[in-house]
Amino acid sequence: MECVLGYLDRTSIWAQVLTGHGGFAAYLHKFKLKDSAACVCDPEVPETIQHLLLECPRHDRDRYDLEVSTGIKLNEITVAELMANKDSRPYLKRYCLKIAKIAIDRNRTR
Ligand SMILES: [Zn+2]
Repeated sequence: MECVLGYLDRTSIWAQVLTGHGGFAAYLHKFKLKDSAACVCDPEVPETIQHLLLECPRHDRDRYDLEVSTGIKLNEITVAELMANKDSRPYLKRYCLKIAKIAIDRNRTR
């Protein structure tokens, strides 16, 4: 049962990564579920999934680890390459899930 729940949870987070809809501040703010759309790194920057994955300095360390593991610098063009390649896809997916979960958990509690 725990296993099933774990799978569903990851699936749900992955869906939020792919659509950008879910527990990200910019999205929650749009639907008035959150006062601010800003990311915790900068009050001027909306917290979107693109920002979290590709730009947010708070995730530099994980992004660096991903780039070392795959040998590819992450940006909005290479993200599609990383996804298409079966060797790099698991690294990308793990990275996305980790970052998304941190943001979703954070937005759930404040
Ligand atoms: Zn940020």
